[in-house]
Amino acid sequence: MMIVMKEEASQEQIDSVVRRVESVGAHAHVSEGELLTVIGAIGDRERIANLDLQGADGVDRVVPITKPYKLASSQFKHGVPTVVEVDGRKIGGGHFSLMAGPCTVESREQLLSTAEAVKQGGGSMLRGGAYKPRTSPYSFQGLGGEGLRLLREAKEETGLPIVTELMDARDVEPVLEVADVIQVGARNMQNYSLLAEIGRSGRAVLIKRGLAATLEELLMAAEYVLKEGNEDVILCERGIRTFETATRFTLDIMAIPVLRQLSHLPVVVDPSHAAGRRDLVLPLSLAAAAAGADGIIVEVHHDPEAAICDGPQAVPADDFGAYVEQVQRVAATVGNELSAL
Ligand code: PEP
Ligand code: MN
Repeated sequence: MMIVMKEEASQEQIDSVVRRVESVGAHAHVSEGELLTVIGAIGDRERIANLDLQGADGVDRVVPITKPYKLASSQFKHGVPTVVEVDGRKIGGGHFSLMAGPCTVESREQLLSTAEAVKQGGGSMLRGGAYKPRTSPYSFQGLGGEGLRLLREAKEETGLPIVTELMDARDVEPVLEVADVIQVGARNMQNYSLLAEIGRSGRAVLIKRGLAATLEELLMAAEYVLKEGNEDVILCERGIRTFETATRFTLDIMAIPVLRQLSHLPVVVDPSHAAGRRDLVLPLSLAAAAAGADGIIVEVHHDPEAAICDGPQAVPADDFGAYVEQVQRVAATVGNELSAL
C-alpha cells in the first residue's frame, strides 16, 4: 500500500502515519520527494487496509501497489524515474552512463592503461572484477584483495568511480573500501542474503539479470536491496539463455522499455556478456541506447588477445573513443545525455 501525503503535511502527521503502519507489524518505508512524502506500507494487506488511513490527517490518498515488488515498482514513485548519482556521474532520468573496463583485473599495467583509455574516451566509470564468478573452478578466480588495491590505484590516477563485483558477503568490507558501485553478478542475482547485506551497506548497486531470470524476478532482487533502505539500485540486462546457440546469450532488448514501464529504477545494458563476440558489441550497444537504456557496461581491454578472460568480447582500448562517440550520438536521439566528467 502506498500512502501519499499532502504537500502541506507536517512532520508530526507523517510520523503518526508511520507509527500506525508499524502498529500492525508492517514496515513503513518513507520516501521524501521534492514536493511530497510517500510512505510505502509493506506487510499484511488486510491489516494495513483496516487502519483506514485514507481519512487520516495529512494523508492525500492511499493507493494499493498491485505488483509483488513494491518499492521497485513505478507506481511507488508515481512515474518519476530514479536518478542514481555516483561521484558526480548520474544514471537515469535522461542521464546516460558508460561503465567500461576489463572483465577482470589482471595486472597493474593492464588496469592502468585500460583505465586511462576509458577516461580519455569519455567513459563515466571504470569496471573490473577482483572476484570473478567462473563456470569452472579451475579457471582464474580473480586477484581478490590485490585486485581491489589496483582498482583503488586506478581510481586515484583517473578519478573514475569503480564498479566491481561482490560475490561473497564475507568480502563486503574490503569491497566497500573501493567500490562506488557494487556489482551483483548474474549468478548471484537470487542470493538474497547478499542482496540484503548490500542493501544495508547503502552503497549503489548494479544487479545483473540472472541467466534465466524473468523481469519480475529481477525486480524482486532489487526489492531486497530497496527494502533495507538503499535506493541506489541499477538494473542490468546482460543477455539470457535461449535456444539460440549462435551467440553466447540472447540480449533481451525488450527488457529495456518493459523495465522502464514497470520500475522507476535505471536500466543499464551489458552487450559484452550477451554477445560473447566483439563484432556484436557496437550494434547491440546502439540498439540498447536507441531503446532508451540509461547506460551501458562494456568490457574494454588494452590488449584483448592477451586477456585472461573474455578477450574475444573486449573492445580494444584504442577503439573505445570512437565507440563512445557513436553510442553517445544514438543515446542523445532519445533524450539521454552522457554523464561523464
Ligand atoms: C562480468 O561482468 O564480468 C560478469 C561475469 O558478468 P555476468 O555476471 O553478467 O556473467
Ligand atoms: Mn566478463
